[in-house]
Amino acid sequence: MDEYDERVVAEPTRWLADEESKPAPEPLLRIQALVNTVELPTGPDRLADPDDARPWLIDNGLMAAEAYLSDADLQLLRDVREALRAVLVRNSGGPAPTEAQCKPLRTVAAGGVARAEVDADGNVGLVAAGDSVPERLVDLLLIMRDAQRHGSWARLKVCGNDECRWAFYDRSRNHGGTWCEMSSCGNKLKNREFRARRKKANR
Ligand SMILES: [Zn+2]
Repeated sequence: MDEYDERVVAEPTRWLADEESKPAPEPLLRIQALVNTVELPTGPDRLADPDDARPWLIDNGLMAAEAYLSDADLQLLRDVREALRAVLVRNSGGPAPTEAQCKPLRTVAAGGVARAEVDADGNVGLVAAGDSVPERLVDLLLIMRDAQRHGSWARLKVCGNDECRWAFYDRSRNHGGTWCEMSSCGNKLKNREFRARRKKANR
């Protein structure tokens, strides 16, 4: 276990959000980053393998360093990722998400707890209470809520290319952006080194 931890620390834990061409402002970037952990339809998936996912999840605040990551947690993450993508389709002018598509977000909402915090200036914030993936996912719901109130939520969209669906932040004046990035649409990671470790060749 010690050897495992050392190796994880030495590895790059960032994925793509630090290189997004159309990044959302923090903290909304956290939702964009989760949606963009996979290149659809058949590209690399940062959340397919627990050894790949773990350092990224810790670095992105979706689990504590000492927390256990189960297969069910990974499945929930992937389900939430696609639920978020379905919600973002609506921001992009597409249909509203279905009941089934929203279900993973409701699962997180039903199981999680938010805690109020007061900082040194007296500002009050809400944060997820707990160290596990299901508990920390509540943070993303809180980020969604704030972004929906502030209006930035509507600018977080997914690419209009059905084969791509990459999440991007639309900074255009008329909110009319449709594509993630013309030059590399649908080809985000294919030309990029897949930095997560590919340990299990038999997967
Ligand atoms: Zn695209």
